[in-house]
Amino acid sequence: MEILKHNIENVKERIYKALIKSGRQNEKIKLIAVTKQVSPEIINEAIKLGLRDFGENRVQELLKKIDFVDTQAKFHMIGHLQTNKVKYLIDKVETIQSIDSIKLAEEINKRFNEKGKVIKGLIQIHTAKEETKFGLMPEELEDFLEKVINLKNIKFEGLMTIGTLTDDEKEIRRCFSLLWELRDKFSKFTSDNINLKELSMGMTSDFEIAIEEGSTILRIGTAIFGERKVS
Ligand SMILES: *Cc1c(COP(=O)(O)O)cnc(C)c1O
Repeated sequence: MEILKHNIENVKERIYKALIKSGRQNEKIKLIAVTKQVSPEIINEAIKLGLRDFGENRVQELLKKIDFVDTQAKFHMIGHLQTNKVKYLIDKVETIQSIDSIKLAEEINKRFNEKGKVIKGLIQIHTAKEETKFGLMPEELEDFLEKVINLKNIKFEGLMTIGTLTDDEKEIRRCFSLLWELRDKFSKFTSDNINLKELSMGMTSDFEIAIEEGSTILRIGTAIFGERKVS
């Protein structure tokens, strides 16, 4: 508990400093604590320490834990989502941040529509150099937006990306500024269900750079909960 408290304070301090450095001290930024491989008990400690938003990247893990977590928690799906798992997320998550194909968007829309629900979504964009990362290519975004305009059970609120995992600050910055430019370019592309405002970018190793590049949502695991086991 003491370590967790210290880590959270430390992360908040670093966020605050980065906001000041970027001239964004009056802006709000959402902190999502990434809880993959973190037990419900620890998540409940984090809630006692004031955190409310949590990120999970696997549906099964989320479902296993969620009933043991205080109901104040809001979960966000941040990992690659298979279409056959979408139905399990209804009433479980606040946003799906990893929408990366039209097929997935259509399935989400269909399942939430069946239950009369609307879900907030972010579109995941592939900005990194690695080939393994999920996400739409930047040049696919326009076509994607035109095709999802009728999916009324998803509210598309912004973009999400994972920056290249590297020590090269310039390369990381390139990923984040690319996401910013995309949002800028498509900010006028609004409809009943599309209004791109959020930029979900920045993890433990790069969140200060992400803040400087305009991030509105940070997804931070290791700096809060410590190193995970390699899986
Ligand atoms: C694990 C994960 C994070 C957090 O990573 P840390 O380096 O532990 O802060 C953020 N986003 C996604 C999509 C993740 O899978």
